Amino acid sequence: MTAFAREEKKRNYQKELDQEIEKIKRDDKVPTLLLHSCCAPCSSYVLEYLSNYFKITVFYYNPNIYPQQEYEKRVLEQQHFIQSLPAKYPVEFCGGRYEQEEFYSGIRGLEKIREGGERCYACYEMRLRETARIAKQQGYDYFTTTLSISPLKNAVKLNEIGERLAAEIQVPYLVSDFKKKNGYKRSITLSGQYGLYRQDYCGCIFSRKERDNQ
Ligand code: SF4
Repeated sequence: MTAFAREEKKRNYQKELDQEIEKIKRDDKVPTLLLHSCCAPCSSYVLEYLSNYFKITVFYYNPNIYPQQEYEKRVLEQQHFIQSLPAKYPVEFCGGRYEQEEFYSGIRGLEKIREGGERCYACYEMRLRETARIAKQQGYDYFTTTLSISPLKNAVKLNEIGERLAAEIQVPYLVSDFKKKNGYKRSITLSGQYGLYRQDYCGCIFSRKERDNQ
């Protein structure tokens, strides 16, 4: 493990998020947040939690999802959940492009790497970069992603990418590790409560093949 990774491992992202929210409350503000979402189940707890403090736009940018039919199913589920959730502050939906070629060119050469490795880091970065770009262009106060809620996603890597893009694109990034405070468990409860479709593979053709082989 590199010194940087060891240092990152020590950070408590949930505590950092709590501190940022405390600051927002003290300032008596309701900032805008462009929240990248991978799917309705992962967004469920995150929206229930963050919509108490932010005006959120859910940004659905996931050209990694295969096949198109699955993508469309996940989009509809996301929209349905947003409409059903009783949120303190408004939650809106914004659809990103669905150009599968953007994903394939972004992960070229990494196709054979197993889920959780370098291919996924490139996939995180592609989705976060687009979220940061739109957040900057449209003047959002923050951007972030729901991805850290999954036990299969690397929160250290996600936050490292998010903070690097924030510095590069000049738009604030909200650090997170949404699986903490029983966030993942709560997302399963909410998915059951709202009857959400919970897919059994991450999204890309490679993760689907891994599922089929198991
Ligand atoms: S397994 Fe998931 S995170 Fe990894 S490349 Fe595929 S869609 Fe992206």
